[in-house]
Amino acid sequence: MSGLGYRLAAVQAGIADAASDAGREASEITTIVVTKFHPASLVRELAAHGVRDVGENRHQEAQAKAAELDELGLRWHFIGQLQSKKAKQVRAYATAIHSVDRPALVDALRSDEASVDCFVQVNLTDDPGRGGVAPGELDALVERVLGTPGLTLRGLMAVAPLDEPARPAFARVRELSERVVRLAPEASALSMGMSHDFRDAILEGATHLRIGSAITGNRPAAG
Ligand SMILES: *Cc1c(COP(=O)(O)O)cnc(C)c1O
Repeated sequence: MSGLGYRLAAVQAGIADAASDAGREASEITTIVVTKFHPASLVRELAAHGVRDVGENRHQEAQAKAAELDELGLRWHFIGQLQSKKAKQVRAYATAIHSVDRPALVDALRSDEASVDCFVQVNLTDDPGRGGVAPGELDALVERVLGTPGLTLRGLMAVAPLDEPARPAFARVRELSERVVRLAPEASALSMGMSHDFRDAILEGATHLRIGSAITGNRPAAG
């Protein structure tokens, strides 16, 4: 097996372990392999190993790979900060947008075409530069998504802060999710957990993991 195949299998085993410790079924957890900065050839190799969900954080790169690999029928998850003027273009190839974080972006995503899945990103830090809506503004943003045609709210997305343990941070997301579910019972998904903290995320109820380097190896330098 290739290095990629080994790393994928090791991460899948770690996910199965964590799910079992949490009393959950691994099959209810979607693993999105984050392929940002990597060439389309690596995505193709992942697909050959059975990967169906991939994540990208930059529009132009994502658009190019999605076009080149169209025949593979992969599900493309957009996980990066998104400029409102790019919103319509991302809708065209994305299965889900995980980084909905402000009213202007919600408005830009409005569409009469087929609905796209989305997650509202919450900021777990006090630094607005980290992306995500502040918890105090969460309910209003959720209501706005629910009132916007062309968007299906799946739940919340978050990135653990760098300067505190991940598990209590993910527990906060789970609590915020209870507020969201009161407004939208179907929107119970939790997109959280990366290479170094996916176990904690699973223990706190993550349904969508976004895992890059633990599977792909180190990312090439930003191009
Ligand atoms: C890059 C990225 C990931 C994956 O990070 P790894 O540490 O490589 O697993 C997950 N989520 C977001 C939002 C990212 O930008």
